[in-house]
Amino acid sequence: MNIDSSFFKLQKIKQETIFFETWGSTLNETADELAKQATLMDYVGPEPALGLSMMNVKYEISQWSVQEQNRRWRNIKSCRQAKQFMQVVNIRLTQYVVRLSRKDLRLLVGLLTGHNTLNRHLTLLRRIDDPLCPLCKEEEDTSLHLLGNCCAIAEKRCEFFGRYFLGPGDLKQEHWSILLSLSLHFNSHFPGELGLAGVY
Ligand SMILES: [Zn+2]
Repeated sequence: MNIDSSFFKLQKIKQETIFFETWGSTLNETADELAKQATLMDYVGPEPALGLSMMNVKYEISQWSVQEQNRRWRNIKSCRQAKQFMQVVNIRLTQYVVRLSRKDLRLLVGLLTGHNTLNRHLTLLRRIDDPLCPLCKEEEDTSLHLLGNCCAIAEKRCEFFGRYFLGPGDLKQEHWSILLSLSLHFNSHFPGELGLAGVY
């Protein structure tokens, strides 16, 4: 590139800059004014007319739906165990569970709701009369105890979570895929001890 062509390019850029500085604000003001006038005009086109894009409508309905489900979930007095794992609607986890096999979904739902074949629930159903954990015999056999607190499987828990013990608050933070993986491991290694056969 020689000096002459560089000079002409700089001249061109300078002229374009002057043009946009001169007319840019005027064009914006004109566009604003026309938009304002359009809002006052009668609608022309297929009826019924809705001044929102379909994407906005879908988004608003989705947000309303999530808020309504959360409100109803908070107001339900029952489901104590399920609320320990699920506080609000979680789209990411929902998308995960709908892709699970029927067998895994059954196991996960049992874990999250407490409607499973762990000893506490079987005792409530009067199927057995000892609600204690069959591994440690120290606490009631529940999902929270199994996943976060049973000392008999602390080593294995550490392999999955990186910690020996997890409280209810910790378990809420974990992805359900890890809870399911740990439960599948228990099911295959302690088939006679841990009754995680499914939902009751
Ligand atoms: Zn235990």
